Amino acid sequence: MKFDTKLLHAGISEDQYTGATSIPIYMASTFHQQKIGQSQYEYSRSGNPTREAVEKLIADLEGGVAGFAFSSGSAAINTVFSLFSAGDHIIVGNDVYGGTFRLIDSVLKRFGMTFTVVDTRDLAAVEDVVQENTQAIYLETPTNPLLHVTDIQAVAQIAKRHGILSIIDNTFASPYVQRPLELGVDIVLHSASKYLGGHSDVIAGLVVAATPELAERIGYLQNAIGSILAPQESWLLQRGIKTLALRMRAHLANTEKVFEYLANQELVSKIYYPGDPDNPDYEVARQQMHGFGAMISFELQPGLDPREFVEGLKLVTLAESLGALESLIEIPALMTHGAIPREIRLENGIKDELIRLSVGVEDSQDLLADLEQGFANLKGSQTHAANGALNS
Ligand SMILES: *Cc1c(COP(=O)(O)O)cnc(C)c1O
Repeated sequence: MKFDTKLLHAGISEDQYTGATSIPIYMASTFHQQKIGQSQYEYSRSGNPTREAVEKLIADLEGGVAGFAFSSGSAAINTVFSLFSAGDHIIVGNDVYGGTFRLIDSVLKRFGMTFTVVDTRDLAAVEDVVQENTQAIYLETPTNPLLHVTDIQAVAQIAKRHGILSIIDNTFASPYVQRPLELGVDIVLHSASKYLGGHSDVIAGLVVAATPELAERIGYLQNAIGSILAPQESWLLQRGIKTLALRMRAHLANTEKVFEYLANQELVSKIYYPGDPDNPDYEVARQQMHGFGAMISFELQPGLDPREFVEGLKLVTLAESLGALESLIEIPALMTHGAIPREIRLENGIKDELIRLSVGVEDSQDLLADLEQGFANLKGSQTHAANGALNS
């Protein structure tokens, strides 16, 4: 089955009792056991038919052996990190989601795990920081918000050579654009609140394991920790996933147009986009991604106020999050990455004037017109400021 068809027909796509083509929302906490231990479901934390449908679907989409749904991406990440114990060492990409950094720094470190942060694009550096007690490499690609791209296959090979796990947060790409398990990775996870859900109406997390052994361990932790996705949200998520391919094609086409526009916009000093042929990660991105994703970050010319720009847009929504139908824009330093200490943020290249845009599926002419009026505003205030300086 091709990917587009899988979205509709893979996993469990039909209710086994009624044939309903939309899996019903099974609002049940417990299930009648006709004979002890012989029932398909026992208790909804351990297994629920609506959740199971979306779990089987994501496993098929990513090409793994089992999927697991959680109450948020953060809950999924925390559950995956619960595979490790005090004394274990984990290598982490230097540009991970702010909430992941917070989880590591303020929670997991207290439990006695240690972490080394590296730019995982530098394969020699990754290899260099492997220690005797290293258990895993955890990374995102493309990263947030600089959209750096790591060679997934190369990192998976390093992990295999050292007998450690490779784990990828695939949120920014979605399985339409990139499937890390096919490149040798052990565990892939998502904040399904983004492209998979797609409609800005659900918070959810998904994990897919490559082997039965890992599936067994993650399933155990999912039940033990209990941060599962509820039936209503499971249904919303499966409904959202059905249109992933349709949405992604529209996202990708618009993003190419936005890139071209920004590349010719004189008030923009730097663009971060893996589809930019001048981007150092372009070749790796071209090989491992299907399209270049729909996220684009950029910096304004020095002296221009990014806040004024994002607050002056009328169509593009000023909001955190990404992967929604509607275009979303934000300033990482003030919003999504505000929890990261400024020195660390600057060290990682996330400047105060950086703007991150999640390109939506609006008509591209309307999108470009809104960006254009936003830049025109800035030009106005630039002239104003220059005149003010002359007068004073
Ligand atoms: C949003 C996000 C998360 C966290 O997911 P929630 O669903 O908000 O808990 C993790 N990783 C990435 C890359 C994200 O964008």
